[in-house]
Amino acid sequence: MAEAKQLNTCPQDHYPELQLFVGGEWISKGSRKSEEVLNPATGEVLGELPHATKEDMDRALAAAEEGFRVWKEKLPEERSVVLRKASDLIRKRAEQITTVATLESGKPILQSRIELQMSTRVLEWYAEEGRRAYGRVLAQRQPGSRMYVVKEPVGPVAAFAPWNFPQGNPARKMGASLGAGCSCVFKPAEETPATALLMAKCMQDAGLPDGVLNVVFGIPHIISTYLLSSPIIRKMSFTGSVPVGKSLMKLAADNMIRTTMELGGHAPVLVFEDADVEAVLKQSVAAKFRNGGQVCVSPTRFLVHESIFDKFVEGFTTLTMEIKVGNPLDENNSMGPLIHERRRKAISAIIDDAVQKGATLNTGGAPIEGAGSFYQPTVLSNVPHSARIMHEEPFGPVAIINSFNDFYDVIREANRLPYGLAAFAFTDSAKRVNLLGEQLEAGMIGINSFAISVPESPFGGIKESGHGSEEGIEGLEACLVTKFISEA
Ligand code: NAD
Repeated sequence: MAEAKQLNTCPQDHYPELQLFVGGEWISKGSRKSEEVLNPATGEVLGELPHATKEDMDRALAAAEEGFRVWKEKLPEERSVVLRKASDLIRKRAEQITTVATLESGKPILQSRIELQMSTRVLEWYAEEGRRAYGRVLAQRQPGSRMYVVKEPVGPVAAFAPWNFPQGNPARKMGASLGAGCSCVFKPAEETPATALLMAKCMQDAGLPDGVLNVVFGIPHIISTYLLSSPIIRKMSFTGSVPVGKSLMKLAADNMIRTTMELGGHAPVLVFEDADVEAVLKQSVAAKFRNGGQVCVSPTRFLVHESIFDKFVEGFTTLTMEIKVGNPLDENNSMGPLIHERRRKAISAIIDDAVQKGATLNTGGAPIEGAGSFYQPTVLSNVPHSARIMHEEPFGPVAIINSFNDFYDVIREANRLPYGLAAFAFTDSAKRVNLLGEQLEAGMIGINSFAISVPESPFGGIKESGHGSEEGIEGLEACLVTKFISEA
């Protein structure tokens, strides 16, 4: 791909040419259909994204089939070296990658920089863990015989990633598949294509053989339907919404394709009367409005003990009003725009509905006038169950604060929805901490902390939030098959 030029005072001028990456070749738009990629902070066009044709898709599949053969034969040590080198290159090109990520996604630049560091650690984790795809030897049944179990890469992976972590999502998708010895046909989000392409370029420059990683774009359901109907694809990894996840699983079923589904959430945050309210408030507001709330594990329903409810709502509202919203390239701003106008309309509608149904609007509740899809950081309290936001994932800059007075009532409320991705709780009681771990229905639980993701921990949900995990030993395991060999 064309290298992004050195970034200077006008980063928008230095957005790279958008291409497809197939079989080691960078393919320009030519006569292909395309779509505009917009800067959500300004509405300006950043670039023109080519859509893969049927021929491009067939080439990507054939390249992944051949790439798998080549990559699988490499020693785990050799694969590890490539992933580590790619991670080093991503760090070296950090300024370029993070600026492009912020331009495309509207994520505040400081958050993009943190995300880049996280992403390199994820790649390094898989570089290491891929060397530990051990099998086991079973006890003999007869002298001279041997029975053993080996782990092998599952085959070419189709991976689909959303726009909210333009660096983190590609790192997880590439890291798991390539670390395990699989090849990958990857469709990043059409909203944030250049970030993924810059990362793919680091893979290529690190020595990844042609065809092991292929990056395509297009109309999402057309691309995914095409890939999942191919017998070449043996595994699918998707991050996105529950409805799309369900439809992709149905497609995957026809070819018995293994799946890892990282879907939405509606995280409850239980705040008990013995928690340090000031400390919880500081952490909560930062966690809620990170990336404008467009995070699958974003804290959504704050369930606060009635004895500290008024103080909590007041403190939360005050801190929310202090959030600086604006140009995400400006380091002083901690919230940028929403990803696109469609999401802003969706957030407006779900907040308006809550207010109409009787919720108290403590602050925010309106779009911000002017260019870009900005929306005010919003706090709602005493939100009735009849409001849509109490059932649907808002995926935006809005906190819900309701009260409770009984432990088992609040557990029931926390577990009420079909989602089960993340849950959080704050308390000083050791006994309660243990009970919370047992009782909350979620794939990831943060007690007295919102930090629930490190490369060595499994990231994933239960119930309708999906199945399987990324990262952790589970993330690698998801791209491996188990083979039993018996020698008489
Ligand atoms: P969307 O469901 O249209 O798109 C989300 C992502 O999935 C996009 O990157 C899109 O390209 C991809 N996608 C959509 N349909 C697809 C298909 N048939 N095949 C393959 N990929 C497909 O939603 P949106 O309006 O962009 O975002 C809103 C909702 O998406 C949110 O409410 C949230 O639930 C969900 N979402 C979840 C995550 C997450 O981290 N789990 C991230 C982004 C969005």
